[in-house]
Amino acid sequence: MPATPAWPPKSLPRLFVRTSLVEGAAVELDAGQANYLGNVMRLGPGAQLLVFDGHSGEWLARVVEAGKRRMSLTVEKRTREPETIPDVWLAFAPVKRAQTDWLVEKATELGAAQLLPVMTQRTVAERVRLDRLQAITIEAAEQCGRTRLPGIGEPQGLKDLLGQRDPARLLYFADESGGEAAVSAFKEGPALILVGPEGGFTDDERQLIRSADNSLAISLGPRILRAETAALAALAAYMALAGDWRSY
Ligand code: SAM
Repeated sequence: MPATPAWPPKSLPRLFVRTSLVEGAAVELDAGQANYLGNVMRLGPGAQLLVFDGHSGEWLARVVEAGKRRMSLTVEKRTREPETIPDVWLAFAPVKRAQTDWLVEKATELGAAQLLPVMTQRTVAERVRLDRLQAITIEAAEQCGRTRLPGIGEPQGLKDLLGQRDPARLLYFADESGGEAAVSAFKEGPALILVGPEGGFTDDERQLIRSADNSLAISLGPRILRAETAALAALAAYMALAGDWRSY
């Protein structure tokens, strides 16, 4: 008995749109999207694709009109409800641009709910371009099947991050100088994972973080990981031990 083909077909292109989606809605794509679908993916009138708006789930849409740099769609029906993602936030000290881009892309794929650039004493990064990071989260969400985008916070200082944190959100502080093994530390519930810059946290910063309410220093093993590796290793460990990898 041939297997029932997946519906909607996994091969359908998937696009984030800024229009709020409902059945029957008309969506006008921006020139870049129209060019990509029309000239790269060769979609024309009648072709189907998947669209999502970041809050109402995923929808099947059909191309109505296609021109050189414009394309309009009609929304046919919802294919998926908005997914529930674990309430885990990632605060990271921005590193070099390529590494930060990579970190943001992978953290989106891994399911981070919020991405918070934090400026620490040893942060050496250039200016953080939030529009650029958002574009990276959109592309990663289109690729990995998310229907919600991670939020991206304005860059803030470490003191502000700690000061504005709701103490009910457990702070997991990735500390290369030692802490509780991640495998026993991560517990289900609102979480904030904090990872330092390439140069690490200063002793004052380490003291400040360790003395914060409801904070736990965690170890990611015996080796010194690069900042972006540590961020993703911590996020993956959280998803495996306290997140949604347990139910798939
Ligand atoms: N300054 C440190 C050094 O040179 O010894 C290295 C900092 S490390 C490159 C960057 C960040 O990754 C650290 O601030 C920490 O948050 C995290 N990190 C790296 N390895 C880790 C480990 N084994 N356990 C916990 N956190 C780690």
